[in-house]
Amino acid sequence: MNQPILDIHALYKSFNGVEVLRNINLSVQPGELVFLIGPSGSGKSTLLRCCNRLEEPSDGAIVVDGINIISPKTDINVMRQRIGMVFQQFNLYPHMTAEENVMLALRRVQAKTKEEAREIAHRELNRMGLSARLTHYPAQLSGGQQQRVAIARALALGPRVMLLDEPTSALDPQLVGEVLQAMREMKAEGMTMVVVSHEMRFAREAADRIAFMHAGQIVETGTPQELLSKGPESLARQFLSQRH
Ligand code: ADP
Ligand code: MG
Repeated sequence: MNQPILDIHALYKSFNGVEVLRNINLSVQPGELVFLIGPSGSGKSTLLRCCNRLEEPSDGAIVVDGINIISPKTDINVMRQRIGMVFQQFNLYPHMTAEENVMLALRRVQAKTKEEAREIAHRELNRMGLSARLTHYPAQLSGGQQQRVAIARALALGPRVMLLDEPTSALDPQLVGEVLQAMREMKAEGMTMVVVSHEMRFAREAADRIAFMHAGQIVETGTPQELLSKGPESLARQFLSQRH
């Protein structure tokens, strides 16, 4: 096997003495699309947030591209550029156009010139099918378009892995498909991704592997086929079998 892009080892996280992640182990290979599924409150968001230290883990290691991001010696601001993050709420700056939203971190964090940043922003927005929306403000865009701007913004920094936390949950049903399509295209281009989603049909179709979380632990993992062929007592199978 290759060196994993993301390697989570014996990860624990407590909030005020309450353990919400317990002994999480997960390796994600280059180009792999891993879904994290499970009931609300099982720890999916906390796990993703630990992976770029929006939350500080209590114990364990998270190795991205060979570097343990939990180590105090690691410059997390460098590593965050390698770990693209997309949230349910798109978190775009409302007073900036689509291209300005994408250019911001390229300018501030990567010190690109305005011309370089604009060129990269246009390339990534084009990939997301937004070439006609470059100078639109978030309020002038649909939710699906805003989420695709947020994805373009993360991709623009050249991440090694993309973490997406319920990227379609805030969208009207008719806009979900365009964001799922954007994820299919990222996958086709070889991006490594960890996706938290309740879109079980999409998970069954697109996942290379699924990790089912329950009460702070990964309790079952497998390909969609492996999980779906488990017995009726399997919580992962029950969860994954949901209609949409
Ligand atoms: P999921 O994304 O699977 O719904 P979360 O990771 O959001 O689950 O939450 C896991 C558990 O951690 C829940 O019990 C939640 O209440 C708790 N939790 C999450 N964030 C915090 C926080 N900042 N402070 C205290 N408890 C939290
Ligand atoms: Mg969550």
